[in-house]
Amino acid sequence: MFMLKRGTLLAVALSLALLVAGSFALSAASAASVPADAPRIVLDAGHGGVDPGVLGGTTGEKESDVNLKIVQKLEKLFAGAGFRVVLTRKNAGGLYGMPTGGYKRRDMEERRRIIREAEPDIVLSVHQNSYPAAPSRRGGQVFFREGSEAGKALSASIQARLNLLGGREISALKGDFFMLECADCPSALVECGFLSNAEEERLLLTDAYQEQIARAVFEGVLLYLA
Ligand SMILES: [Zn+2]
Repeated sequence: MFMLKRGTLLAVALSLALLVAGSFALSAASAASVPADAPRIVLDAGHGGVDPGVLGGTTGEKESDVNLKIVQKLEKLFAGAGFRVVLTRKNAGGLYGMPTGGYKRRDMEERRRIIREAEPDIVLSVHQNSYPAAPSRRGGQVFFREGSEAGKALSASIQARLNLLGGREISALKGDFFMLECADCPSALVECGFLSNAEEERLLLTDAYQEQIARAVFEGVLLYLA
């Protein structure tokens, strides 16, 4: 169950109020003085190293790079709001050691180890989608673990913010993903957009749109906690 101490709740409420007022600003000082009982969030940038994930249909850019950039923006937002933030992957490399046989399994097991060690309150795994058979398909899509009501609520909250950004009405979906099974806390796997859609690919590769996506996900989490 998710429990917040009073001070933490105040911090979250304050962040939310500032956010709603449209004047949310990061403070380096607040990030440096995170209380021990602050909510803990694990941010997982999908893929990495020899596993690029999907590739941009036009540019060939790697999903793994886009995931990391968005996670780094999320890290700043959550740290600035007083969360304790743990990243699974901190750079372009994978988490498998040597890229020999079984690397994917080792990579996933290392992510799970990091998540369990963090004892998080929330886990977010960040990915990009691709569906070349239907290149018009676009928009963020959030997945939750089947049977997790908290994960469903978290995912619906993030999905609502992504829908606002993209001007769509998409529902969060249950999904059978390893990353959603790593902890008992609420978790969401966020597919930020489609690298197979030329226009969305162009947007997803810009710093400004990555920032908009990160902010939408961040707001979705805060609204879930509020
Ligand atoms: Zn992926």
